[in-house]
Amino acid sequence: MSETRPLLEVKDLVKHYAVRGGVLRRQVGTVHAVDGVSFSLGVGETLGLVGESGCGKSTVARAVLRLVEPTSGSIKLDGTDIVPLSKSDLRPVRRSMQIVFQDPFASLNPRMTAGDIVGEPLTVHGLASGEEKQARVAELFHQVGLRPDQMKNYPHQFSGGQRQRICIARALALGPSLIVCDEPVSALDVSIQAQVINLLIDLQRDHGFSYLFIAHDLAVVAHISHRVAVMYLGRIVEIADKAELFANPRHPYTQALLASVPVADPKMKKLKPMVDGDVPSPINPPSGCAFHTRCRYVIDRCRLERPALAEAGTSHQVACWLNDGTGRPE
Ligand code: ADP
Repeated sequence: MSETRPLLEVKDLVKHYAVRGGVLRRQVGTVHAVDGVSFSLGVGETLGLVGESGCGKSTVARAVLRLVEPTSGSIKLDGTDIVPLSKSDLRPVRRSMQIVFQDPFASLNPRMTAGDIVGEPLTVHGLASGEEKQARVAELFHQVGLRPDQMKNYPHQFSGGQRQRICIARALALGPSLIVCDEPVSALDVSIQAQVINLLIDLQRDHGFSYLFIAHDLAVVAHISHRVAVMYLGRIVEIADKAELFANPRHPYTQALLASVPVADPKMKKLKPMVDGDVPSPINPPSGCAFHTRCRYVIDRCRLERPALAEAGTSHQVACWLNDGTGRPE
């Protein structure tokens, strides 16, 4: 659990999508995109959310911002549940929650100058205009490592890393308390990724906001996060302080993810992958523990009963039947 004051508290978040088929578009199935996710995020803290593609990370991100409507559950921001809020009541709350997407090019209007893009939230919320707005935008450019004279340029005139800096400046414009980063460096060259991550870390130090940081790559999450939550098929299977999770991963899926992190040493033998096969379909998730179909430690109970997240040490929770006192799987 976070030791700082909680900014965001997500409880039993569920998002199901109907699968429709036939001429009458009848519901023929349900995608269990997010299936009971709970976590908290402290003020000034970064929680990394990792897992393979399709496990529901982006759906959590979008639901937290109410960009998709949760099927059920509560999302408290500074103590207020935002799930029941009407669109007009949500508007002021939206100022404190921003998102940075994976593909900076797709999220920037190619017909607007970079300066207009970064200044748009100030106009929409009636916070600044004219010279005051220009000065604020120039300051935001400076904060993200861009030059104010680049305000007049269009998105295509920037590199990928610079475009992501524009997106970050736009997210900063309204002084948010929470920034959701949805795979913000996955589309960038590896050499640029570290620069953008370091920028995010510096900005957090200066402004004190919180990040919900989503990535499929544990190495990226490791650098920026204070705590890490591992998702599998719509659920969190393990959550712990970063150092604890990396030193003492308890869930076989987390162990497999860690084993697949590339090591920058050519002499080191390639680690044997610990998990085979693809993620099962979220339309018909496996019974019991959803990971049992790929787990090398599977026991009968795993096929029948779903384990809940349970304490597995200080600031460490894991959802695995092997965490019942019989010790960690070796
Ligand atoms: P991730 O971000 O981990 O890759 P997503 O949250 O994007 O995962 O998706 C989780 C699951 O929900 C996937 O199986 C995906 O196909 C499904 N999904 C996402 N959005 C929709 C939608 N609008 N309609 C139906 N299924 C969806």
